[in-house]
Amino acid sequence: MKNIIFIAPPAAGKGTVSDYLVKNYHYEHLSTGDLLREEIQNGSELGKSLEEIMASGKLVSDDIILQLVETKLQSYLQKPFILDGFPRTLVQAEALEKMLLTLGVTNNIAIYLDIPKEEAIKRVTGRIVCPKCKRSYNLNHEELKPKKDNLCDDCMVELEKRSDDNIDTFAVRFDAYLENTSPILDFYASRKMLKKVDAMTQLNEMFQNIIEEAKND
Ligand code: AMP
Repeated sequence: MKNIIFIAPPAAGKGTVSDYLVKNYHYEHLSTGDLLREEIQNGSELGKSLEEIMASGKLVSDDIILQLVETKLQSYLQKPFILDGFPRTLVQAEALEKMLLTLGVTNNIAIYLDIPKEEAIKRVTGRIVCPKCKRSYNLNHEELKPKKDNLCDDCMVELEKRSDDNIDTFAVRFDAYLENTSPILDFYASRKMLKKVDAMTQLNEMFQNIIEEAKND
């Protein structure tokens, strides 16, 4: 399987697909959002400086993100890997290209999950997450509801709402996506790496479409 770089607006389903690919296709999953939230939880100096900016919905600086990814990426290379939430700016995309070249990693595709803004708002307001395994559920999506009210199906731990999953912060995150992240689509298209997948289909259909794109030729 190819390495996958996901590009999508907030709450399009990157985490849900990643979870499926980890469980069924043995992918490694690197989510910069999860790594940043871990820093906040650990109460590190870096974490303290991140809290306000992430709560606002704005992007963390390229320097911080690139340092974080540079220290972590190598430990994800034993298997095919997913990059979820990174790159989010053109600067990050260019830096990632150099990193992968240096590491000799060539089997990569970028998958754009296409979703209208209205549906992303619906998903963001219904999202609840397992604090232990990070699996996402969604109270506004029939296929993504937890089996038992508010408990993770796998860990049986109480599900939590992310502090940035509210309508006001979503607006800032969506604008950051339009301004900073959507230009990356042209970057990957110019490198013939870009595949578009509809995120409005039934989940299983979306999973199969992604697998088709990610299979080695
Ligand atoms: P996510 O979990 O991917 O929705 O990310 C949550 C928040 O973390 C974002 O709204 C940003 O503040 C920050 N973040 C995550 N990944 C990046 C990135 N690659 N570049 C800049 N900020 C990021």
